[in-house]
Amino acid sequence: MSFERILGQGEAVGRLKRALESGTLAQALLFAGPDGVGKRAAAVEVARALLCGEGGCGRCPSCRHVAAGTHPDLFIVEAASESTGVNIEQVRRLAERISESPLEGSQKAAIIDGADSMKPPAQNALLKTLEEPPADTTIILVAANPGMLLPTIRSRCRRVDFAPVGASVIADFLVERGAARETADVTARLAGGSFAAALALLDGGAGEEREQILRLVFAGDGGEEAREEISAMLVGGGQMRLREKRARAIGILAAVHSAVVDALRISGGAAAGTNVDFVDEIAGFAGRLGFQRLAVLEKEVHDGIIALSMNADVRLVADRLTPAFLAAAAADQG
Ligand SMILES: [Zn+2]
Repeated sequence: MSFERILGQGEAVGRLKRALESGTLAQALLFAGPDGVGKRAAAVEVARALLCGEGGCGRCPSCRHVAAGTHPDLFIVEAASESTGVNIEQVRRLAERISESPLEGSQKAAIIDGADSMKPPAQNALLKTLEEPPADTTIILVAANPGMLLPTIRSRCRRVDFAPVGASVIADFLVERGAARETADVTARLAGGSFAAALALLDGGAGEEREQILRLVFAGDGGEEAREEISAMLVGGGQMRLREKRARAIGILAAVHSAVVDALRISGGAAAGTNVDFVDEIAGFAGRLGFQRLAVLEKEVHDGIIALSMNADVRLVADRLTPAFLAAAAADQG
């Protein structure tokens, strides 16, 4: 393991490596960018390099403890539940722990994953720590939607932006994990720059779930049964972690979006680009809706994906989009 496993983030990783090598890494960092692009993994790599003392050699006990998730001087905080986000008790406990001396080496590192889920009281509690962090501690905030953080928090952190990952990088990654090249290419194009969305698509969306949602929206009848099915598909099962639910919903919406874009192409006289296995259904759909309504639907789905990538509630997005899908499915004229 090393920074090399953070794929498609050359600029952010380059900046971090240079800062680590020159000893100029800020004590408080904000890793900003969409879900599933490697922010948390990069934060762990930074922590590993700091704690190792050899720049993250990968062989010493410290590096092995970080890899195993058992390092006593690396604190990773994430939301205990969807409704509370990272809460004030977690922030206070973290502040206490980083005020103590390191147990293994000379440094400590703290990662707050989903820092943008903190409500103002938790953020204010964190502010105290960010104002006077212990000299031996580096704090990394990970946030998909940094706009949710108080300006006073943001101003105390050096911000590092993580961009959506290029489709070819994601495709190669999927092939390495055993996907067929063709499936990987299609999936990567649908994933919107997110490894998490790509994996969710590959695990379901690109196969069964993609087929199911496309049938419901593009060949469906818009009835009550379809309403329940679409809604249940988007919201997902209860056992999944929140971020998995979002990635999965993004994957499903990305599949719909790509098919709507194909419908727009067909409506404009071009051939379907991506969903070659659904050409007939999409062509019929394009004929029923017409260009104007397709363009509106495209924007609605696109906005839904953006909202999810900025941590919107999955059910809210599902409630907004399901009627639009049903109306589209039931449309009989352009
Ligand atoms: Zn090491």
